[in-house]
Amino acid sequence: MIYFDHNASTPVLPEVVEAMRDCLAGLPANPSSAHREGQRARAAVERARAQVAALVHARPDEVVFTSGGTEGDHAGLIGAAWALEPRGRRVAISAIEHHAVHGAAEVLARSGFEVAHLPVGTDGWVPPDALDALPAGTTLVAVMLANNETGVLQPLAEIARRAHARGLRVLCDAVQAAGKVPVDVELLGADYLVISGHKFGGPKGAGALVVRRGAPFEALFRGSAHEGGRRGGTENVAGIVGLGVAAEQAGRDQPAEARRLLRLRERFEGLLHAAVPDLVVHGARAPRLPNTVNASFPGARSDHLLMALDARGIEVSAGAACASGAVEPSPVLRAMQVPRELAVAALRFSLGRASSEAEVAEVAAAVGAAVRAVRAATGGAGA
Ligand code: PLP
Repeated sequence: MIYFDHNASTPVLPEVVEAMRDCLAGLPANPSSAHREGQRARAAVERARAQVAALVHARPDEVVFTSGGTEGDHAGLIGAAWALEPRGRRVAISAIEHHAVHGAAEVLARSGFEVAHLPVGTDGWVPPDALDALPAGTTLVAVMLANNETGVLQPLAEIARRAHARGLRVLCDAVQAAGKVPVDVELLGADYLVISGHKFGGPKGAGALVVRRGAPFEALFRGSAHEGGRRGGTENVAGIVGLGVAAEQAGRDQPAEARRLLRLRERFEGLLHAAVPDLVVHGARAPRLPNTVNASFPGARSDHLLMALDARGIEVSAGAACASGAVEPSPVLRAMQVPRELAVAALRFSLGRASSEAEVAEVAAAVGAAVRAVRAATGGAGA
């Protein structure tokens, strides 16, 4: 099997498995209990908090553990919008945010908030001057650091600078960026930042929301004083410990791994171009994550290509959603104004720790063969 779907999830690192196993077996108490066993569990949670804080250059007391990216995006967007409500009931999110941010914005809209969408250029980039058009009463803007589909890195520091000049707070979904590129919450200027463990070698269902000191925030989950009153609920101790170990490892390996993946990705794109000369790489002119390629293969539908590659043991993601036989372009590619016939023929390849030269060569050759086969079978009819 060749796994080129690391933006969907990554294999759990062996060190993480070991730490979580030790924790499940040896730390049975509730970290809120005052007795010695409780305090051992508490110490493990606090060690992980420091590890997570170090990955994103935050202070440990700014880290709030969550059940992952979706919860972090909800707690961040809704918790900040509620706390900022006395100043206005408008928030803005970029058009290419993950479904989790769009979902959180829908929750706000249900209770009367207005949600504006920042446009994106054809290269997948949110232009910072889009902020200038936001109406008065906007309190918060959410822009991701790296897009999960195209890998395009957003000009977050400039967006935050403009937002702060207008008195707006900034939420950054850094779920796809953490572990792949440097993430420094201070340099980015984000007031709230979200990460998720399973995107960098940690367990699924464990993540963190960073709430900077002084950033207004109201808890979504209430009823108890966990996480400094910012997230009620007994901590997922094993998940948090696994997240911490993964964060430490990701921080240590990130610079060398990013260089290695970038070389591999460039080689992969070159081979793909040779195999399918008319392919279109989305976001090709923008700065991108070192591990991600999103490309369209004109005349070959995403779902057909995905199945052909899966049959050869190659796992990738379709760049378009498929429901009951019809194929729908992804909202991200639509926002980038990719023509429909190209958008329904997109695949996302996302490389990771185990990816090698041999694998990129094999996948590029398999993609070439799959594109030829699908075009021959469907007459290159695309959608
Ligand atoms: N945000 C982004 C950019 C993502 O890519 C994902 C997952 O794909 C999420 C949020 C949701 O994270 P989780 O799967 O931990 O809920």
